[in-house]
Amino acid sequence: MHESQNEAMRKKLVLDTSAIYNGTDYPAGTVLYATPQIVSEVRKVYRTERAEFFVESRLTVLMPSPGSMRTVRMKAEENGDIARMSEADLEILSLAYELHATIVTEDYSIQNTASALGLDYRSLYIPRISSYVQWEIVCRGCGSTSHARDEKECRICGGRLVTKRKKTRPI
Ligand SMILES: [Zn+2]
Repeated sequence: MHESQNEAMRKKLVLDTSAIYNGTDYPAGTVLYATPQIVSEVRKVYRTERAEFFVESRLTVLMPSPGSMRTVRMKAEENGDIARMSEADLEILSLAYELHATIVTEDYSIQNTASALGLDYRSLYIPRISSYVQWEIVCRGCGSTSHARDEKECRICGGRLVTKRKKTRPI
């Protein structure tokens, strides 16, 4: 059966920066979480009383465990999203993973990795992603694909490395 948006929103939610600033209408009884980094980002970017009130009155601020961070980082490395993710992104994903919570974010890389981890996610405004993408690093010179994230150029031919979609599957 299809779960309604309200049904899902009544559970535990881990919020990204924009979800904290924009989504102050979460149903009562929903437990809302964020990480310390996300909270300081909110305080730096949105210096409004409304945002501050929301942080103080509604949010439970937690750090994920190193174990969850490790699992999530490995998954993000495996699917290539790591290149587009910040430490703060990895933290909220890890917290959602640890709490079995739904993650609320507009960020496609976070949504993509959430999907790879089997986590539920929601987007407040833009449609959520409809396909899961795995990325790979390809050399434009020789076409080799066995490259590490931190490689500057191809170690085989010295060619330029580009990130490409390896495979896509519908969610
Ligand atoms: Zn090459």
